[in-house]
Amino acid sequence: MTDEHGVASYEKVCERIAKAAKSADRKADDVQLVAVSKTYFEDKIEPVIKAGHRIFGENRVQESQQKWPALKEKYPDIELRLIGPLQSNKAAEAVALFDVIESVDREKIAKALAIQMEKQGRRLDCYIQVNTGLEEQKAGVAPDLLDDFVSQCRDSLKLNVVGLMCIPPVEENPGPHFALLKKLAIRNDLKNLSMGMSGDFEIAVEFGATSVRVGSAIFGERK
Ligand SMILES: *Cc1c(COP(=O)(O)O)cnc(C)c1O
Repeated sequence: MTDEHGVASYEKVCERIAKAAKSADRKADDVQLVAVSKTYFEDKIEPVIKAGHRIFGENRVQESQQKWPALKEKYPDIELRLIGPLQSNKAAEAVALFDVIESVDREKIAKALAIQMEKQGRRLDCYIQVNTGLEEQKAGVAPDLLDDFVSQCRDSLKLNVVGLMCIPPVEENPGPHFALLKKLAIRNDLKNLSMGMSGDFEIAVEFGATSVRVGSAIFGERK
């Protein structure tokens, strides 16, 4: 069967999340699916919206500005999440377009976001990205600097920090990274854990993910 528009794949992913939740003794409703639509256009995205999905993730501000304003106007209850690294000169656009920022990863960005949220009167939920694998090329706060960064974002900058996000190193077993993220969240009194992608979202659910970010398993391999 061909699945040109990804709806069958989307439904399959929902079933797999529900199943993983059940075997971890969790409720399926406690795990949100963020459908990662980067590189895909309206022809692929809209069928998934029509199938009832509302939470989407994108990793680039500019690309998102080209496709999401019209879709958000048509479907006002969409929740759009930025999951990729942000540059401070794009903070204004990001705050205007997105509903959640999952990739707060350094002081400069946290400050730029705080200024824009104040200016625009939009207080978005934020996640702090943690570089659990201490990878040089990867964004995120080092685990041992996290507590200070969280309190700076929360107490000084008044960001609405709701959780932590991570992307484990590709070649490693993701379990220990998910476990670390959970430990760090508990220590900082944060409820939400954004972890797990197409290749490992069931493991993430087992380790307590409250949202999983799934792209290719829904929309197909990206070119
Ligand atoms: C692209 C991306 C995803 C989704 O990746 P898939 O492997 O296609 O599911 C999740 N999180 C982030 C931060 C991404 O950039």
